[in-house]
Formats: sequence, structure tokens, C-alpha cells
Amino acid sequence: MDEAWQMGCSGRSTLALEVALAVHQASGHPDDSHVRARSAQDIAWYCFQLGKSEMGLDYANEAVVIWRHLAEPACEAQALSIQAWLHMELGQLEEAVALAAEALDLADQCGDLRSRSLAINVTGVIFWMSRQPPLAIDYCGRAVALARAAADRNFECWWLINLGGSQAEAAYMAQESGDRAGFETAIASAIEVTRRAVGLARALDDAWAERLCLANLAEYYNAAEDFVSAEQFLAHYRGIANEDDMRGEGQYLDILGRTLISLRRPEEALVPLQRAHLLATRSGNVETLMFACLYLSRAHEHLGAFEPALDFHKRYHSLHQQFTAERTQRNARLADIRYETKKLRMLLDTEAGRAAEIARSFAVLQQQTTMLTEAANTDPLTGLGNRRRLEAAMDAIDASGEGYMLAVLDVDHFKAINDQFSHLVGDRVLIALGALIKGTLRSPDLAVRFGGEEFVVLMAGVTLAQARKACERIRLTIARHDWSSVAAGLSVTVSIGVALSSEGGVSHEILEIADRNLYRAKQAGRNRVMATARTGGSSDH
Ligand code: GH3
Ligand code: MG
Ligand code: MG
Repeated sequence: MDEAWQMGCSGRSTLALEVALAVHQASGHPDDSHVRARSAQDIAWYCFQLGKSEMGLDYANEAVVIWRHLAEPACEAQALSIQAWLHMELGQLEEAVALAAEALDLADQCGDLRSRSLAINVTGVIFWMSRQPPLAIDYCGRAVALARAAADRNFECWWLINLGGSQAEAAYMAQESGDRAGFETAIASAIEVTRRAVGLARALDDAWAERLCLANLAEYYNAAEDFVSAEQFLAHYRGIANEDDMRGEGQYLDILGRTLISLRRPEEALVPLQRAHLLATRSGNVETLMFACLYLSRAHEHLGAFEPALDFHKRYHSLHQQFTAERTQRNARLADIRYETKKLRMLLDTEAGRAAEIARSFAVLQQQTTMLTEAANTDPLTGLGNRRRLEAAMDAIDASGEGYMLAVLDVDHFKAINDQFSHLVGDRVLIALGALIKGTLRSPDLAVRFGGEEFVVLMAGVTLAQARKACERIRLTIARHDWSSVAAGLSVTVSIGVALSSEGGVSHEILEIADRNLYRAKQAGRNRVMATARTGGSSDH
């Protein structure tokens, strides 16, 4: 296979193809998978070199399948690239674009330089053939740089040829739009790059690439109206042994005919043009056939043979219409594919962005909700929970079925404190009470400001004795607190009504019982804890 590859790299592609086919045929054994894939891939390449695209496709496809099975992504990417190129040669653009995209992805993933170089080059060729020279130049240029980085001089030479072709396409498009300066700059670049390629081809002894370069140089000099140089390159071309390279032959005959017409040798031009016409008719290539007809018409015109000239011109005209329609369709299809791909990518981006945005705003919302809930359940003055917090806690404790105690605290003669000291002092008393009450409780217990100067304490899992003790501790803490820090001469006491869950049904009934006990505490003289008489009587200071 290596020897065959050397043949393919030195202008002996027909021989290379024969050898590769023989190897491929001999590689029937499952252990030979690598050999089979490699031979299939190389056959596809030689087919491309020789203009046998249809035959090459089957082999390229087989190579892709085997490489995939063998988990050889670098090789698979190469086979995919060749497959894409063959589709391009056959004018099957959708397939070419899809396969090139796949090859690019795979090559990027595995990072193999040669694979990337080949995939990027094929993408460049697709852009070139679909008349998008800026993109084509960009891609082909990168493919050349990658080939150099991979130290593959054959790849470097071949991709240079495509870079030249892309630049020539830029020149032709500038010419069509009447941009003379643009044309001259671009065609000069095309010639310069192709001259570099021909030097490399000679150094590598790659006759296939050299022939390609020489035909292209003839073409570019022809476009630049330097017909003498064009003819010289064509003479070089003839000097290189030509196998049955149908692809190159058609191109050569076409340029030779055109150059001879331009050099005012129409009779000589007829020979290559008629042969080009024959080859194009056989291959069914509309573009080549169209140009063969055009130049045959011109040659006949120069010879004064107006009847065949008109005849060929009519055929040129109808082929031109067919070709333009096909190209328009092709470009529209390409635009479609690019649009679809872009749309898909944008959609994915937008979707991802939208999902991230939703997640973000959800998190913010959650945070805000937590904050709002917190705020809604907190008493701003004391920082304790409020009535809503208590209600939620009571709902939860009702649901759990656990026993608990509720105590309602009310400041004694608070009106008098407000009146005697001021509302501000009254508020400070409430703040201090919040802290004092909380300070006496264990962490699972809850203290809330129920409203005004009333507080409620909720304790789960306590006996009456424990409940009384806890409330007594609160009462004493408040009563013994040094209130002079709030206002000189101030003293504060509270009355507490207690109820146990065992005394009633749901929590709000217990709360009512506690409230009644509070009333009794007030009645009994304030600054005391009162529980339901039946369950434990009262206690006072
Ligand atoms: P009792 O011992 O019978 O409870 O006498 P009291 O004066 O405390 O009577 P009551 O509980 O009916 O009075 C509550 C007073 O508390 C009425 C109101 O002026 C005062 N008050 C309610 N909320 C606040 C508040 O947020 N700040 C201040 N400074 N005073 C409040
Ligand atoms: Mg009150
Ligand atoms: Mg009061």
C-alpha cells in the first residue's frame, strides 16, 4: 500500500489504483480490516485523481464504515473527506457539505494534523466550487499551513493548487463585476501560488500534481491574456507522461483550444476542441461540454465557417441555460444548507441561553421568594417571628400530632409605660423583651410577636411542669431585668397565660385557652403565669 501511495504521489495513479485494487481483493480475512480500510480509502483517492468519482465513492464509503468500526477517528475523518470530495466532483452538494462537516468535526476532535488539513481543504474546495472565494481562500490557506505543520509535502502541494484555484475564482468574479484592479491582483496571486505548487510538485516528482499546476497556469495566463506564456505551460504539460487521466485531459484540451484561438490559430484549435467535445459528451459534464461548444463556435467563426459556428453557438446557449439553472439551484441549495446549519446552531445557542436564563431567574426568584417569605413572617421591630410564622408553626405541629405548650405573654400596664415614658421607650421595651424571651428559650422553641405588646411562645414535647418552669423563667428574667438602661425608673413585668395541647383540639383553640389564662393572670394581679386550673392551677410571684 505504501508503494502504491508513492505511485499515486508521483503521477502513476493508474498503476497505484491497480495495486490498491489487488490488495483490497486479497484482504478478505477479518484480521485484515486495517489493510482493507486503507486499500479502500486509497482506491477512492486514486479514483479521484483519475476522474473516476463514481467508482471511488463505493470504496470511500467502505473505508468510512471499517474505520468507524475499528475506532480510528483520524482515518475515518480522512475517508469522509475523500467521500465529500467525490460527491463534490459529481455535483452532489448536499452530501458533500454534510460529509465535509462530519469530517471537520471528527478531525478537530482527534486533532490529527493530516486529517484536519484534508478536511479543511475539502471544505475550501466546496466553497471554491460554490463560488465563495473569500471563504475558499481562507480554508485552502489554512489547509496548506496544516499540511506544512504535518510535514506532508504532497498535501501541501495539492492544497496549494486549490488555493490557487480559489484565488483565480476571486479574479473571475472581480472580472465579471468589472473590477479590473481586483482581477489583476487576484490572478497574480493565483499564478504566484500555483508556481509555488509546481515547484513543489517537481521536487516531489509528482507528475499528477505538476500536470494539474501546468494546466492551471495555462488557464490563469490565458485569463490574464498572456497567451504566449499559456502556450509554453501547455507545451510543458504535453511533455509530461500522461496516463488515462480523463479529468486532466479534458481541462488541457479546453485551454489549448482557447489559447490557440487567442493566438489566431483557429485551425489548430479545432483538433483539441473537437476531442474535448467528445470527452465531455462521453462524461456528461455539462460545464465542459458547454465550453467546448463555445470555443468550437469561435474557432469556426474565425475560419469563416458561419454555419457550424452558429450551430455550436446555439448548443452552447442551451447548455449555458441548463448550466446556469443547475448552478443557481446548486447555490440555492448551498444557501439553504448553510442557512439551516446556521439556524440550527443559533436555535441551539438560543435554547441553551434560554435554559440558562430560566435557571438564573429561577434561582433569583427562589432567593426573592425566600427573602419575601422571611420578611412576611418576621416582625420588623423585634426581629422575632410574627403571627404568620406562628400560624405556620401551629399548622405543622397540628399535622405532626406532637404534644406542645402555648404561652401568651402580655406586658403589664404597657399603656402607662407609653404614657409615662414615650412610645419610643415603649418600642425599646418591646425590642428588649423580644431578645429576653428568645434568650430564655432552647433552639426548637419558637417565640413570636403576636401583635402590639403580646408575645407567644410555642414549645413542643413538654409536660405541664416543664411548661410552667419555662414560662416562670421568662417572667422572672423580664421582671429582674435592669430596665434602667432603657429608661431611668422603668420597670417591666409580663403576665403569661399557658395552655397545653392536651387541653383542646386544634392549635387555635389552645391559643384561646392560653388567652383566657392570660386574662386570669391579669385578673389575679399581673406579673404571673397562669395555666388552666384543672390541669395545674396558678402560680404567682
Ligand atoms: P394590661 O396590663 O391590662 O395589658 O394593660 P395595658 O396598658 O398593657 O393594656 P393593653 O394591653 O390593652 O394595651 C396595649 C397597649 O400597647 C396599647 C398600645 O398603645 C400599646 N402598643 C401596642 N403596640 C405598640 C407598639 O408597637 N409600640 C408601642 N410603643 N406601644 C404599643
Ligand atoms: Mg395587650
Ligand atoms: Mg398589656
